[in-house]
Amino acid sequence: MAKTVSQDVCYEPPAYALRVLETLEAAGFEAWIVGGWVRDALLGLPPHDVDICTSALWQQTEETLRAAGIRVEETGTKHGTVTAVVDDEPIEVTTYRVDGAYSDHRHPDEVRFVSDVREDLARRDFTINAMAYHPERGLLDPFGGREDLAVGVVRAVGDPTARFAEDALRVLRAVRFACRMGFAVEEKTHDALVAAAPGLADIAQERIGQEMNGIVGTGRVGWALRHEADVLCAAVPELSAMRGFDQHSSWHIYDVMEHTIHVCNAVECFTAGTASLRLRWAALLHDVGKPATFTMDALGRGHFYGHPVLSAEQTEFIMKRMGLPADLIRSTCTLVHYHDHIVRPTARSMRRTLAVMEESDPGNALSLAFELMEIKRADAVSKAPKCAWYAVELDEMDRILQAAGRKSMVLGVKDLAVDGNDVLEVMGGKPGPAIGRVLHQLLAAVVDGEVENTYGALREELWRSFLENE
Ligand code: ATP
Ligand code: MG
Repeated sequence: MAKTVSQDVCYEPPAYALRVLETLEAAGFEAWIVGGWVRDALLGLPPHDVDICTSALWQQTEETLRAAGIRVEETGTKHGTVTAVVDDEPIEVTTYRVDGAYSDHRHPDEVRFVSDVREDLARRDFTINAMAYHPERGLLDPFGGREDLAVGVVRAVGDPTARFAEDALRVLRAVRFACRMGFAVEEKTHDALVAAAPGLADIAQERIGQEMNGIVGTGRVGWALRHEADVLCAAVPELSAMRGFDQHSSWHIYDVMEHTIHVCNAVECFTAGTASLRLRWAALLHDVGKPATFTMDALGRGHFYGHPVLSAEQTEFIMKRMGLPADLIRSTCTLVHYHDHIVRPTARSMRRTLAVMEESDPGNALSLAFELMEIKRADAVSKAPKCAWYAVELDEMDRILQAAGRKSMVLGVKDLAVDGNDVLEVMGGKPGPAIGRVLHQLLAAVVDGEVENTYGALREELWRSFLENE
């Protein structure tokens, strides 16, 4: 995608960054702003955190800044980094450096401090990240990063094969930047990505999780699945089984991977790019368990009995392995588990759905129920054309859910107008699991619209069932 890129940055660096820059230069060192701030400022995107690099050794940086009354913390001195804090804003300041050999495909064995900023820029991953800016000296762009921003490509600095062999995480970083900015991956860089993708096996799962979360969070994971499937399948091996998996079903015109790509894209379409992270993850993984549940009947028709449950189990396993937050995992798994749950455009069906969501993920029922409708809508338009009518029915369900959301909702036993004491009073006996069972029966009756959620009606219902069971 071509971007408008100004000849210069669209805004000046913030005052607190200039203070650090000027203090270092007044002491005779050289300093530049580098990396993400320069890239985003050229595009006119919201300002990124400022990182500074300098010819000063970290001890000199510390001494110089402290002498000027600036607080400094030693956050990464092994790699030449300290963090200055000005007006409560932290800024990383790093000595110009080049990386030594990478024997583990991730961390340089050693770093070497250098005096030329160009050497520091050359060790950076992509041309768009390898530019430096100074308010007086302007833009320093030895690898054509500005041009690549304008054309919209992610291109490795130097020989892509060598760069990905040094650090395999760059493979996922390339895809994340391409997704975030809507860029393509330059051809040679792309070929090197594919060749280097197996190296992701050596990378810590938490780092893969962070990058994958970044990719999914851009809303362009559908693009990544289509154009960089080798990379995504190396990062999350469970995705591989979906590739080219024929569904042998008249309900599906796409294989499982192609269907998933359509669902990921449709979710963005239907939410105008505002989908939540959990909805995006659910779109990616909702059918991940399909290949393992496949059976074919005597007529040659494919079935995937139990796939939502298996997909939810695999989703939990994958996301836990990658160290993603527990609440994100719980909500994502709820959406995956219930994505095939039968819902109808009736108030009763919507109340039941809300109760199921509340049970599975307490406190999130209403927003999750809307998101469940989104994934179902995206799923419906990504099957065969004959399934698309269902998306229209889902619009009606949204309307009913909205109405339900405006009323005070009964989602769980805690919302009932009676509690365990009422059950004990009527039924006698001692506190225990039996009380909970009775309350759940009352809940089901209220959700189904058989009994009103009032103290009088529920006490009456308790007496009725007590006398009936006598
Ligand atoms: P964002 O923080 O928005 O993801 P960024 O460009 O700031 O983007 P960081 O990961 O914060 O990315 O890294 C800061 C800079 O350090 C990058 O712009 C890049 O120049 C360099 N860099 C970071 N990680 C690597 C890496 N694995 N290999 C080479 N250079 C890297
Ligand atoms: Mg950054």
